[in-house]
Amino acid sequence: MNGMVYLVGAGPGDPELLTLKAARALARCDVILIDALVHRGVLEHCRPGVRVIDVGKRGGCRSTPQAFIERLMTRLARRGAIVGRVKGGDPCVFGRGGEEAAALEAAGVRVDVISGITAGIAVPTALGIAVTHRHLAQGVTLVTGHPRMGGAEPDWAALARSRTTLVVYMGVRRLADVADALLAGGLAPETPAAVIQNGTLPGQTGLVSTLACLARDVAARGIASPAIVVIGRVAALARRSARTRVRMTTTVATAARRSG
Ligand code: SAH
Repeated sequence: MNGMVYLVGAGPGDPELLTLKAARALARCDVILIDALVHRGVLEHCRPGVRVIDVGKRGGCRSTPQAFIERLMTRLARRGAIVGRVKGGDPCVFGRGGEEAAALEAAGVRVDVISGITAGIAVPTALGIAVTHRHLAQGVTLVTGHPRMGGAEPDWAALARSRTTLVVYMGVRRLADVADALLAGGLAPETPAAVIQNGTLPGQTGLVSTLACLARDVAARGIASPAIVVIGRVAALARRSARTRVRMTTTVATAARRSG
């Protein structure tokens, strides 16, 4: 059986942030299954006439059920197709890459996972935020703001004490709850916090505020998914620049001064 599946990380948005390994794998594929968040520019690396199947999955929108996607990949690979399953960021960071690889392997399908640049690192960087800036953070914690149905909520009180930068994926819709839980856990209300929507893409927008004001500011500006939330002193590093088209709220300067 020559068929196989590449689980490809497409990076955070900007198609230039695709790895060489991913580009080369895409060039070998007969069929591509692509997620909603992936910039279609990455398809430029595919052969002409490649079959592209949109399996878009966006919070709250219609999506292709996971089991169906896994069955489809298995069927295609068993028939000898080289399948590219293209996911935003890194396939194994909140991307179900682990689950899909296990399901395919259990079905006897060869899988190659190709790492991508995860949004939680690259999106803050696009705004000038170094998530582990040596003078401001001792580490970074990647956490979901949207636990799986029936899954446990992250231990926000423990995270509040972690002294690491908190990078929250899928967190904008639950921002008020997340901020309240962190404040209840003892994180200072004036802790700098930023939200970046469509990071590394032309429509990138974001704001910097404080933990206490973040949910209100985000609602006022209408910032929505897909967005990354950064909580911690490093958030004050966000720069204002024409390139990133970031407009900051008035609370920014205050947050930056306090943390500096
Ligand atoms: N596997 C992906 C994450 C998938 S979960 C990765 O490694 O990046 C989807 C979440 O990622 C979104 O809800 C959002 O929080 C974040 N995200 C992905 N792309 C983004 C972008 N361009 N800008 C801001 N957030 C993004």
